Amino acid sequence: MQMTKAQPRITIPLDIKKIIVLDIELTADGEYIITVESKQEGTQCRVCGREITESHGRDNKWVCLRHLPLFGHPVYLRLRPKRYKCKCSHKPTTSQRLDWCEPRSPHTKPYDEHLMVQLVNSTIEDVSQKEGVKYDAVVGALGRRVQASVDWKELEELSVLGIDEVALKKGRKNYAAIISTQQADGQVKVLAVLPDRKKKTVRQFLETIPVRLHSTMETVCTDMWDGYVNAVEEFAQAHEDVSLDVVIDRFHVAKNYRDNVDKLRKKECRQLKKELSKVEYEEIKGVMWPTRKNNRNVTTEERKKLRRLFSYSPDLKLAYTFREELTAIFEMKLSREEAIERLKVWMAKVERSGLKCFDTFLVTLTNWLDKIANYFVSRLSSGFVEGLNTKIKTLMRRCYGIRRVDHIFQRLSLDILGYRRFV
Ligand SMILES: [Zn+2]
Repeated sequence: MQMTKAQPRITIPLDIKKIIVLDIELTADGEYIITVESKQEGTQCRVCGREITESHGRDNKWVCLRHLPLFGHPVYLRLRPKRYKCKCSHKPTTSQRLDWCEPRSPHTKPYDEHLMVQLVNSTIEDVSQKEGVKYDAVVGALGRRVQASVDWKELEELSVLGIDEVALKKGRKNYAAIISTQQADGQVKVLAVLPDRKKKTVRQFLETIPVRLHSTMETVCTDMWDGYVNAVEEFAQAHEDVSLDVVIDRFHVAKNYRDNVDKLRKKECRQLKKELSKVEYEEIKGVMWPTRKNNRNVTTEERKKLRRLFSYSPDLKLAYTFREELTAIFEMKLSREEAIERLKVWMAKVERSGLKCFDTFLVTLTNWLDKIANYFVSRLSSGFVEGLNTKIKTLMRRCYGIRRVDHIFQRLSLDILGYRRFV
């Protein structure tokens, strides 16, 4: 190693078995090139698949594989793979396959894993820049290390399924459906990212669930979308060993009625901006967050602002109160029947009030009441679907160019598993 003599030195293991180190060079660019030779013997014939050990020299070309960095320096392992000859067919020769590197990969396996750790909650672009590897090299590592579809062998039960969606392009009605599961130990797994949310597509996916898991299926948490619900119900009817409860996730219901209040707030504020003096309007400026928060989380300062706003807009005050009341119902420990009763009372109250902002929501709530009330049976849903929904949204914002559903599946799996996968 060419270094000044004054440098203190340490010896560290390379952590790759069955190789010997022939040379180490630190280039002018600050890269370590470690020349190695494989001590592994034999390989599998690329034609007949038999183990072969008859030596046939080495490849002419050197291969240079990116390996884990050393004290901030990029590291490459350089070697000429051994070749072996087989007796089959036209006596083909095969380059040796190494345990620590996949065929045609420009990286060692540990380096691929290293890239995956960097990629958790990050972007391909960012990792590519930080590591000084090409964009496609990061994509390649992702393809080698993270599967593009579910491995059913990893699953022993499927008691809770979640179906949700993500907009593939902002502002367009172009959605991918995300199918997930929460396992008994609380772990969330993505099972599929489907190219659309049609009944047929979802049904086709459900049919790929191994029969051995059918009897473990209990609940499907989903949004109010006919495509999903009909697919699930048809699937259950088609299989005698499947009995499923559909639960409209509380999180999706809440999003629906909360949006109604938000819309009203916007409308009222626009009107007030025209009607109020500058000074008066200044007092209710920035009221968006306080109105969005659940009432119990509102600070004293925000409460003042809210009161001021409500004094100008009784409709908004009423809508806000109804919203909080409805949320409170979902917080209560009610039986399914009690919940239906409460929800019906709430609907009647809203109707009597003459308030218009919940009109479409009331129709939705009536249509889906049975399945919404299923939430009160097990109450298991909202956390996991909401959590996943947030993860998906951050992923899509972060990687705004991401369109391919298999890539979304890989990235989502990686983000969810996070660093757990690597420790
Ligand atoms: Zn052969």
